[in-house]
Amino acid sequence: MYIVHIASEFAPLVKVGGLGDVVHGLAKEQALMGHDVELILPKYDIIQYQNIKNLTLEMSDLWSFEDSSRYHNAVFCGIVDNIKVHLIEAHHNHYYFNRGKVYGAPDDIERFLYFCRAVSEFLHLQKRKPDIIHIHDWPTAPIAPIIKHIYKDLGFSYGSIILTIHNIEHQGKCSPANLSRIGLRGEDFRTEERLADPKDPSILNLLKGGIVYSDAFATVSPTYAKEIMTPSSGFGLDGAVRRFEDKFSGILNGIELDCWNPASDKSLFFPYPTNATYIETILRSKEANKEALFNKLEMQPTKGPLIACISRLVKQKGPKFIIHAIDYVLKQNAAFILLGSSIDHEFENDFKELTSRYKNHPHFFAKLSFDEEFSHSLYAAADAIFMPSLFEPCGLTQMIAMRYGTVPIVHKTGGLTDTVTDIDNPKIPLILRNGFTFENPDPTSVERVLKRAISCYLTEKKRWRQLVQTGLAIDFSWKKSALSYESVYLETLKKKPDFKVA
Ligand code: ADP
Repeated sequence: MYIVHIASEFAPLVKVGGLGDVVHGLAKEQALMGHDVELILPKYDIIQYQNIKNLTLEMSDLWSFEDSSRYHNAVFCGIVDNIKVHLIEAHHNHYYFNRGKVYGAPDDIERFLYFCRAVSEFLHLQKRKPDIIHIHDWPTAPIAPIIKHIYKDLGFSYGSIILTIHNIEHQGKCSPANLSRIGLRGEDFRTEERLADPKDPSILNLLKGGIVYSDAFATVSPTYAKEIMTPSSGFGLDGAVRRFEDKFSGILNGIELDCWNPASDKSLFFPYPTNATYIETILRSKEANKEALFNKLEMQPTKGPLIACISRLVKQKGPKFIIHAIDYVLKQNAAFILLGSSIDHEFENDFKELTSRYKNHPHFFAKLSFDEEFSHSLYAAADAIFMPSLFEPCGLTQMIAMRYGTVPIVHKTGGLTDTVTDIDNPKIPLILRNGFTFENPDPTSVERVLKRAISCYLTEKKRWRQLVQTGLAIDFSWKKSALSYESVYLETLKKKPDFKVA
């Protein structure tokens, strides 16, 4: 099949969170399965160009539309892991892709709507008939209505449009005028059947447009799929998801086993195998990595475990519980390292206060930025990873942690429910229990779960070892997910007997 992914992030060129990893991992696996896979991304000013090969100018005169003007774009093309990547460079007087960041600019809506229109024009001009156009989250969701309402009439031929919702919280709400600017009369789309926002019908909801106009849509874990059909987790879109339930599925993400491989990871002080039968070597190496990291960070060893948190520090990730956990863990003669980025404004002062409270504490270290290399050495050194997310669509962090022999301590929600089973869950065979979970997101439950984890580490070495081994043995590769997506693709294409699959 000829598959084109269109996304706002793609690791290792540009990554804010899991979305970048997921688009890369899925596309790479699909290419390995023999599909012809391409990716289209904005040519941001923050692209990591060292990670792209053979970058050349592919199209110098792609014209796109905004208001009633035509704007010039250029398209560059290069290769990342056998995937052809097209980068759209906007020669627009607002320099849409030069914000020094992916999201968080005041004109995000205009930037991504412009991108969606330019990409649709590019696909049309290419005349290559993609079997699958796979869009991701609100920034590229508008491609579904743009293609169905503009480019289909112009003769653009394609198989199916698939949307993946990586996080339903972010929906791209905007005024009808925003949509009008790129050529779809906004007022015509402000109806319940189309893009009207369910909470405020005077505005539009771009993610809803993706749900309505895609041929199938998926989210990133089976439990999150169930959750977002309920009012408490759907952020207002639960009704839209339920309405289209028959074209909806939950497909658990994978992780990239080559990228996340302690045996070949250059960021580790001491690489180690992942095969659970080498458990003694693994545990010894993790100890050595911990000691080396403590030395580097000028921390002192503790009797208790080293617990890590690697996270964006936004409301979703439970920042208050992260701070509460740090206070608690440090009182238990255990250590905590926090690697946190993208701090929500609301919590900035809390984290500033936290770092000044524990400045020079021998068992605590915090780095409040994004640092890929440090994250690798922390996954290897930590005994446990803490994730008190209020909701978690899938979560890659706990899967990466288990791949590094690090035990997850998580709030039982979304993808965390699908990947972590509590050590004391009597309904699950002992051999399948791989971590610690808590049900209620409150400070008492956080303390209880941490207490259980610390006590197990200190007094039940055999059980701890079993948790590490179980986590290491789980297959988190992309294979299963890529096969599930392939079935979804084929199912949608079956409904189009006139279309010939490449
Ligand atoms: P989300 O996509 O919501 O941020 P996930 O758990 O799905 O959460 O994915 C997070 C990814 O980002 C993981 O690869 C994790 O290692 C990485 N990550 C998160 N915060 C940081 C950070 N501060 N520095 C480096 N990597 C980070």
